[in-house]
Amino acid sequence: MTANKFNRILLKLSGEALMGTGQFGIDPDTVSRMAEEVKAAKDTGLEICLVIGGGNIFRGMAGAAKGMDRAQADYMGMLATVMNALAMQNALEQLGVTTRVQSAIQMDAVCEPVIRRRAERHLEKGRVVIFAAGVGSPYFTTDSGAALRAAEMKCDALFKGTSVDGVYNADPKTDSSATRYETLSFDRVLADNLRVMDASAVALCRDNDIPIVVFSIREQGNLASVLAGSGTSTIVQTERN
Ligand code: UDP
Repeated sequence: MTANKFNRILLKLSGEALMGTGQFGIDPDTVSRMAEEVKAAKDTGLEICLVIGGGNIFRGMAGAAKGMDRAQADYMGMLATVMNALAMQNALEQLGVTTRVQSAIQMDAVCEPVIRRRAERHLEKGRVVIFAAGVGSPYFTTDSGAALRAAEMKCDALFKGTSVDGVYNADPKTDSSATRYETLSFDRVLADNLRVMDASAVALCRDNDIPIVVFSIREQGNLASVLAGSGTSTIVQTERN
């Protein structure tokens, strides 16, 4: 199976995707399952850049809501994403997938700094590159980090793995009449404030014409199916008349 429309993708997973049934932290079995999804996608011949959030460990906004300085809390959130990146690196390498972690906050003892041309070389050599620490600045999220890396690495699409299989007109968990959009325009997502990714991340994808594919990472084999055009997803893209 390699009828891929894409050569290179950025896959964004929220930190919660590593949590399993727990309420917090990293569940090694769940991380292994996610790594299997990534490996299956890679085995179709794709080049993969990976960005993982940190919400399973720490979110800056939550710290700020409890009285912490926002920037300080955001730096803690960025460090959480490095832990998740290392956990995913470990799980992928246990499956025989070679990887490199590049962090926007320099941490020489555990990973490389973000160097675009070096990341290019890793991808050429068939390695998965995991980008950690978002954009490296507070007041951003890993969604923005994902959009930024997708743009600079010239990815063909940004795949956002979530717990639902696309974007709905209402919350499908509470409203049985909610329907899923097959496609949406960037402008509609921004105008209607549809919760796909942060507005800054959506705007960056729009300005660089990078489609966002929202799909469920919870079902086994779904990423590979969506890549092959058979899975369920919502595609956010530029409207062409
Ligand atoms: N963060 C940040 N700048 C970035 C990326 C992340 O300050 O460029 C912080 C922010 O506090 C955020 C936390 O890291 O809440 C974890 O990332 P995120 O909330 O995006 O994780 P996810 O929701 O995807 O698990």
